[in-house]
Amino acid sequence: MSCIFCKIISGEIPGEMLHQDDEIVAFRDINPRAPIHILIVPRKHIAAMNEMADSDLPLLGKMAGVAKQLAKAEGISERGYRLVVNCGLEGGQSVPHLHMHLLGGRQLSGKMA
Ligand code: 5GP
Ligand code: ZN
Repeated sequence: MSCIFCKIISGEIPGEMLHQDDEIVAFRDINPRAPIHILIVPRKHIAAMNEMADSDLPLLGKMAGVAKQLAKAEGISERGYRLVVNCGLEGGQSVPHLHMHLLGGRQLSGKMA
C-alpha cells in the first residue's frame, strides 16, 4: 500500500489526528494554507470523487458533518470557513485518496482559487 493517507490512517506514518470514527478520520494538513487547515478523510481508499460509487456517496455527508463539528471545535464556526474537495489534475488534486479540506482562521479570497 503506497497511499500516504492510508499510511496515516493505519498509523504507519504520523498525523495530528483530530477525529477518528469507524468511517472517517481528520488530521491537520502538513502544509497549511490557512491558520486552520484540516483534512477530512474516509478510511476507505477511494482515489477521487470520480471513483465514488453511488453507495459511497453518504460518506461525503459524513465528512461534511465532521468538518462542521471540527469548525466549531477549532472556534471558526461563527467567523466562517471553506470546505473544498479537489478532483483530478485541473482540480488541483495531489493526493489520490479522497479528502475534504477545512480551511479557516483568516479571510479567504473571494475567488474559488
Ligand atoms: P490535494 O492537493 O490533493 O487536494 O490536497 C492534498 C493535501 O495533503 C495538501 O494540502 C498537502 O499539503 C497534504 N499532505 C500531503 N502529504 C501529507 C502528509 O504526509 N501529511 C499531512 N498531514 N498532509 C499531507
Ligand atoms: Zn489511500
